[in-house]
Order: sequence, then C-alpha cells, then structure tokens
Amino acid sequence: MLNIVIFGAPGSGKGTQSERIIEKFGLNHISTGDVLRAEIKNETALGKTAKGYIDQGQLLPDELIINILASVLDGMKESKGVIFDGFPRTIPQAEALKVMLNERGQDVSVMLDLDVPEEELVTRLLKRGEECGRADDNMETIKKRLLVYNTQTSPLKEYYKKEGKYQYIKGLGTMEGIFSDIVSAVESL
Ligand code: ADP
Repeated sequence: MLNIVIFGAPGSGKGTQSERIIEKFGLNHISTGDVLRAEIKNETALGKTAKGYIDQGQLLPDELIINILASVLDGMKESKGVIFDGFPRTIPQAEALKVMLNERGQDVSVMLDLDVPEEELVTRLLKRGEECGRADDNMETIKKRLLVYNTQTSPLKEYYKKEGKYQYIKGLGTMEGIFSDIVSAVESL
C-alpha cells in the first residue's frame, strides 16, 4: 500500500499534483476541502457548519473532520493506496490518521511537503479566486488561512520528520518539474 500525505500551505499545488500522482500510481484520492465543498453545494447540515469555518479561514474542529475522514476511508473501494490531500492539518489529526491506518494494517508511506514562498502563495490564491470564484480565495481570508497554516499545520513537518516520513519538495518551477521530483521521491521509497 502506498499512502501519501500531500502537504503544503494553501495554494501550494496539492490538488494539481495529487491528480497527476493518482493517475501515475493508481491511488484513491481524499481531499477534505473537496468533500466539504460538495457538502456546501448540496446544502447539507454538515455543509452549513463547514461553511461557517471555511468563510472565516478557520479549520473545522478536529473531532468533526476526523469523523468525516474515517467515513470516507470506510466507503472507499480497494486500491493500491490513498493520497491524503488537506488532511492531516493538525497534530491530533495526524495522530488519528496513524491510528486509522494502523487499524487497517497500514501506515503513512511518505509525507510530501510542497514548499512555496508566501508571496507566491498569495499571488496564486488571488488568481484562483478570480478564475474559479472560490469564496475563501480573497485577500482577507487568505491572510487568515496562511496564519492558521503557519501556527496549526506547519508543526506537522516536525511530526513527520520524527516519524521518518518527511520528504521536502520544492514547489516552485513548472508543474512537470515538480511532478518529476515527486515521482523520484515516491519511487525511491
Ligand atoms: P486550501 O487550498 O486552503 O489548502 P482546502 O481546499 O484543502 O484548502 O480546504 C479549504 C478549507 O476547508 C480549509 O481552509 C478549512 O477551513 C477546511 N478544511 C479542509 N481540510 C480540513 C482539515 N483537515 N481540518 C480542518 N479543516 C479543514
């Protein structure tokens, strides 16, 4: 099983690179952001709750998102592994993921840290806001999301370093160049 955590700040290219990784390695994809946006679109109770947090640039409570992740994982068809995109975002989430995978006789294979300078992140997110109309891609919310990333999510780098699972990926350059660095990292596992 190849279980990849794709990690990085908002706008670091996790979604784009995930699509390529899935195609190349035949993995399932779990994007918590996509799951939540689908709930919002379908106007479910969960969607309503999620929208409150997302519009404020805040994270959903760990317990809630961990339960969502568990049910998505349970409903997933057998595959060669999973790419986790947007999860974990906090230390308790990383610990919960480890337990969930261990219960299935599995573990995280690698954490790919897509590193992109903050100015570039802001430029990309503002552009995405204009092109795709994502409500949280506006200057005010972007600033809050980056602050949340730096304080709550970034410590996961240390967590995965200690687990021996951390892999740095330079997230600047062409999409092909970045993807080829990812492929090399995954193939050398
Ligand atoms: P980004 O482009 O900011 O990385 P995502 O599409 O992954 O965005 O997630 C959008 C929003 O959904 C986050 O800002 C957060 O409010 C919520 N969210 C997604 N994943 C999680 C998670 N693992 N824990 C808590 N909240 C989450």
